[in-house]
Amino acid sequence: MTAQQATAQQAQLHKIYLSPPHMSGNEQHYLNEAFHSNWIAPVGPHVDAFESELAAYTGAKGAAAVSSGTAAIHLALQLLGVGEGDTVFCQSFTFVATANPIRYLGADPVFIDSEPGTWNMSPLALRRALAEAAAAHSLPKAVLVVHLYGGMADMEEIMAVCNQYGVPLIEDAAESLGSTYRGRQSGTFGQFGIFSFNGNKIITTSGGGMLISDDTEALGRARFLATQGRDNARHYQHSQMGYNYRMSNLLAGVGRAQLEVLNERVAARRSVFRRYEETLGGYAELAFMPELPGTSSNRWLTALTIQCAEAEQLRDSLLIELELANIEARPLWKPLHLQPLFQGTKFYSHSLDGRAVCEDLFHRGLCLPSGSALKVEDQQRVIEVIQSVIDAAAYSPQSLIVS
Ligand SMILES: *Cc1c(COP(=O)(O)O)cnc(C)c1O
Repeated sequence: MTAQQATAQQAQLHKIYLSPPHMSGNEQHYLNEAFHSNWIAPVGPHVDAFESELAAYTGAKGAAAVSSGTAAIHLALQLLGVGEGDTVFCQSFTFVATANPIRYLGADPVFIDSEPGTWNMSPLALRRALAEAAAAHSLPKAVLVVHLYGGMADMEEIMAVCNQYGVPLIEDAAESLGSTYRGRQSGTFGQFGIFSFNGNKIITTSGGGMLISDDTEALGRARFLATQGRDNARHYQHSQMGYNYRMSNLLAGVGRAQLEVLNERVAARRSVFRRYEETLGGYAELAFMPELPGTSSNRWLTALTIQCAEAEQLRDSLLIELELANIEARPLWKPLHLQPLFQGTKFYSHSLDGRAVCEDLFHRGLCLPSGSALKVEDQQRVIEVIQSVIDAAAYSPQSLIVS
C-alpha cells in the first residue's frame, strides 16, 4: 500500500474529536419544561435552579449564571475594582479568554510563568512579581490563576503569597469543573471562581458560564451588571453601565441535566487518561501531565509532553500523523506573553535564569482526544498512531524530519 492509499483508507475512518459535547438525554426534558412554561428568556426557573445546584455541587455560597466563562471573568475583575491603569497578575499558560477581560477594563496583565509540578502558576514567580510590585507601591488589583486541562494549581502556596500581600485571587476554573484540591472543589478558593460551559468543556450548555463566590452580595452585583445595570425602579433607570451577560433559561436547562452527570463525566475522562497512560506510559519519550499530590484532576484533556532531544519534531510528527488519521489533537496553549496581542507585556519566569517553563511545555506538548464518550476502539486508533510514530522514530530518526 502506498502512502496515499494509506491516507485515503484512513480518510474513510470517522473523525475522532478532541472533546465533543456529550449529552445525557435528560437535557431534552428540561428544554421541554422551558418550552411548556414559555420561559424562553435570559431569566427563569432553570437559571435559578442551575445556579443553586452548581453552588451546592461546588460548596460555594452562591453562583451567577452568565453567557460565557469570559463574561464571568470580566464580571469578577470588575467586582474587584479593576479599572483603567490597574494591573492584574495572570497565568501566562492559558487560553486567551483568561486575559482578554483585563484589557476590556482598561487594565494591563502581567504574566506569570508555570511550575513543572502542576503546569499552572508558579508560586515562586508570583512571589517575585508581588515582592517587586510591593516595593514599587504598585500591587495588582487581582491575581488570576488557572487550573489548566483540569489539573489543580498549588492553591496552598498561591493563596499564601496572595494573602501575604493582601491581593484577591480569581480562579479560572473553566477547564476544571469537578477537580478537587484536598477534597475541596476548584473555583472555591479565590474570592471568585469561574466555570465555562462552552461546547468542548467537560459539561456544556453549548455556550455559557458561571461565576461562583461565598460573597453573595457581590454575586447580586454581578447579576445587576449582567442585566444592563438596571436600577430598582419601575421605569428603566440606569446609573451605571452594565452588560447583557445573563444565561438563557433554555441553556440553563441543558446545564442542569449536564450537572446531574458531571461525576460520571469526570470518571469517564479519568479512565480515558488512565488508558493512555497504561498503553503509552512505557515510552520514555512521553511524560503525562502531573497531578499534584492531594488533588484530583477531572482530566478534561489528556495532555503530555515529549521528552527527547528532538521533542518538537516528534511532537509535530505526532500532530501530523494524527491529523492524517482523521484524529483531532492539539499543541498545548501558546503562552500569552508570546502572543502578538500581548507583545511587550511583563513576564515573570519560574526560574531565575529566565527560562520559561510554559514556553518549554508549549514546544513539547500536545493534547489527545479525551471526550467522555470516547469509545475504547476509537481510543485504540489514537494509541496505535502514536505507537507507530514513536516506533518509527526509534528505528529511523530520519523519517521524523518535518519539512
Ligand atoms: C474555555 C475557557 C475560557 C472561556 O470560556 P468561554 O465560556 O468560552 O468564554 C476561559 N479560560 C479557559 C482556561 C478556558 O479554557
